[in-house]
Amino acid sequence: MIRITRVCLALAVLAALPTAACGKEGSPPGKGPATDRLPHYQVAQGFQLPDSPTWKRAKKRGYFVVGAKEDQPYLGEKDPATGTYSGFDIEIAKMMSASLGFAPGTIRFKTIASANRETALQNGQIDYYVGTYTINAMRKKLVGFAGPYFMAGQDLLVRKNEHGIDGPQDLDGKRVCSAAGSTPYQRIKKDYPKAILIAYDTYSVCVDNLLTYQVDAVTTDDAILIGYAAKAPGELRVVGRSFSEEPYGIGVPRSDNALRFALDDALEAREKNGDWKRAYEATLGLSGVPAPTPPAIDRYPAS
Ligand code: GLU
Repeated sequence: MIRITRVCLALAVLAALPTAACGKEGSPPGKGPATDRLPHYQVAQGFQLPDSPTWKRAKKRGYFVVGAKEDQPYLGEKDPATGTYSGFDIEIAKMMSASLGFAPGTIRFKTIASANRETALQNGQIDYYVGTYTINAMRKKLVGFAGPYFMAGQDLLVRKNEHGIDGPQDLDGKRVCSAAGSTPYQRIKKDYPKAILIAYDTYSVCVDNLLTYQVDAVTTDDAILIGYAAKAPGELRVVGRSFSEEPYGIGVPRSDNALRFALDDALEAREKNGDWKRAYEATLGLSGVPAPTPPAIDRYPAS
């Protein structure tokens, strides 16, 4: 889980920026990753994965099709002008494709909303998915997960002038917005049934609704919420007390164990050689939160 403390100080250290570039205390600037600072990932030479139908299909095609988010600052964000995706999840996707023997530039990202991830993997619309995707038992019945590569936690985003919401216990009778098909949505529904739950396809629509007083809070992972708070530091803040564990995994077709294990190996190697940390610092680290130790890979057996 992310601790949101001394944001500007940490930002100045990480990005070598003057603290004057920061907003008010505790508010990171709304700035995305600088493309020239992104790491380059060494491509595995002569890599073969004959037991993976997904890898073979991608090899034949010449590129991977990777599912991602397009409206989550620091994590997965699409530049509307250029169509380029950026963020920590995007970097994870790129380093994985390099480990699987694919040259830089041989990925096509495809935006897939939270509720559609399992179907997209099941029907072959995408080869793998990297987008704040929590590993859990229910989803494991439908898809496979490499990782986890990051640990987030559910939190709340409120307007700066909101004084009545300090945690999920304060949500009774409040309008709370989340993404359909997400674990935060399901948790509020189950554990806080007196909240008035509103669902959209994406969190950015929820945030628009928060800014216009249509809802009282947005709930999802802290890693996602700090990005939205950074875009409107004068208006929004993250409550900052997370109330779940959200281990992020790379989604793969359920039967493709060869691909899953190759991605587990690749994650482990990229954590060891410093690429994971470099990727974090060039993206999510710009929020001011220093790089945590990544969670241990859960290489669960093929079923
Ligand atoms: N990590 C949570 C999930 O997988 C929330 C973020 C998202 O919707 O992508 O459901």
